[in-house]
Amino acid sequence: MAKLTGFLEYTRENPPRRPVIERINDWFEVYREFPTDKLQQQAARCMDCGVPFCHTGCPVNNLIPDWNDSAWKGRWHDAIRQLQSTNNFPEFTGRTCPAPCEAACVLGINETPVTIKAIENAIVERGWEQGFIVPEPPRQRTAKRVAIIGSGPAGLAAAQQLNRAGHLVTVIEKHDRIGGLLRYGIPDFKLEKWVVDRRLEQLRAEGVEFQTGVHAGIDFPADELHKHFDAVLLACGAEHPRDIQIPGRELNGIHFAMDYLTQQNKRGAGDAFSPSEEILATGKHVVIIGGGDTGADCLGTAHRQKARSVRQLQIHPMPPETRAEHTPWPLWPVMLRMEPAHEEGGIREWSALTTHFSGDAEGNVCQLHAVRVGPKPHLEPAPRSEFAIDADLVLVAIGFSGPKRDGIVDQLKLDVDARGNVRTGEDYMTSVPGVFSAGDARRGQSLIVWAIAEGRRAAHHLDKYLMGSTALPC
Ligand SMILES: Cc1cc2nc3c(=O)[nH]c(=O)nc-3n(C[C@H](O)[C@H](O)[C@H](O)COP(=O)(O)OP(=O)(O)OC[C@H]3O[C@@H](n4cnc5c(N)ncnc54)[C@H](O)[C@@H]3O)c2cc1C
Ligand code: SF4
Repeated sequence: MAKLTGFLEYTRENPPRRPVIERINDWFEVYREFPTDKLQQQAARCMDCGVPFCHTGCPVNNLIPDWNDSAWKGRWHDAIRQLQSTNNFPEFTGRTCPAPCEAACVLGINETPVTIKAIENAIVERGWEQGFIVPEPPRQRTAKRVAIIGSGPAGLAAAQQLNRAGHLVTVIEKHDRIGGLLRYGIPDFKLEKWVVDRRLEQLRAEGVEFQTGVHAGIDFPADELHKHFDAVLLACGAEHPRDIQIPGRELNGIHFAMDYLTQQNKRGAGDAFSPSEEILATGKHVVIIGGGDTGADCLGTAHRQKARSVRQLQIHPMPPETRAEHTPWPLWPVMLRMEPAHEEGGIREWSALTTHFSGDAEGNVCQLHAVRVGPKPHLEPAPRSEFAIDADLVLVAIGFSGPKRDGIVDQLKLDVDARGNVRTGEDYMTSVPGVFSAGDARRGQSLIVWAIAEGRRAAHHLDKYLMGSTALPC
């Protein structure tokens, strides 16, 4: 156990955030580094519970009390070894995870939970600084070839595991850069892209091969995949965006959130766009439809682009500020979530259902019309509650429904479930032998930590399929 009386002596603290006025004028990460003494005090709060419920919340089964103990004692090498034994990329989860482990932490019953996520990030950053994280190429090669379609966290985690098992791994990515939503979804102020590049260097040095700008199903037809590779892992994400089919949807200035966020991430990487392609919030009244993570990312991006005003519409009523009674510990709490982007400004509208858009003579959107509604499932409109908001840019951020249609999933003739996600058995193998699937493509839109967990598990089963047995953890 870290420190017997730690949870009595110290209260929860998070790493400091940069002042709003500073951070909305740049694209750097919001959080500052945790000073070592603070970090160790926070690790000391861990009670090393007999039944560590934090494990039940964590999809990768992180050894949380073990590395809290190591962090408290300053044993950074042990801490990083424990952390990397279950999670290939703690620097991604340490920065962006909503931390289901913290929601399940036992200390959360009558106190604030341990700051598990911040400790994870601090450990992995020390691991890099002190040279503990190095390439780990396999000692022997098996001569088996594996194709991984998609370079998001699921594909990358599987690639690292399978390469370390000795297989020749090729990651095929349709975009011009590797990383999936880590690269083109999540904005720099949550995850600076050098963090992704640093990890990719390790994967390259271990022997993973990357092909960018190759669209499996178009540039690389499905039957060619079968000819060139002994097994295939489909980790192509859930890119099919949910749309809002209401009058006025065809007006100029209404875009899917991902088109907007991808463009800003590309701009941040030095790419340029012509005025006709450009989706920018600068000087505009921006309305974001959707109150989730993606919506919050649009909010932070719009502020940094100097929007005139930003509103975020959520169909649900405002949740309570603390854990709702129907989601007691250790369940994932229904409660008001405040992302750093919400601290930066903008107005949140609750119980708001968009009914239609109106535009000007040139076909540009100029207003969004909405009505207040009761809770789901009926969404009963309240009488005389219609309202209109000025809008020059509308961003649709209401989620995704499975992988893109008419693509590689159809070509490979894979079974899909009712939601359009790739159907697999418990062994992550699809309806086609030798073709596996993991991450958002399989479970629907989810979290980075789930993508990493699925990538690792799929790698375990794929290795077993190729070799008859496996030493990869599941
Ligand atoms: C805007 C946004 C913000 C998010 N923020 C967070 C967050 O803060 N924390 C969190 O935990 N989760 C977050 N998520 C969710 C998280 O990013 C995803 O759950 C995770 O990235 C899924 O990983 P994946 O590897 O399954 O797929 P993806 O990351 O989607 O990667 C799939 C890759 O496959 C490629 N691809 C698709 N089809 C083909 C093809 N035919 N040929 C070649 N390549 C192909 C795509 O180009 C993409 O690069 C966010 C999601 C979005 C959209
Ligand atoms: S549940 Fe919380 S206090 Fe208990 S071991 Fe896990 S992190 Fe530590």
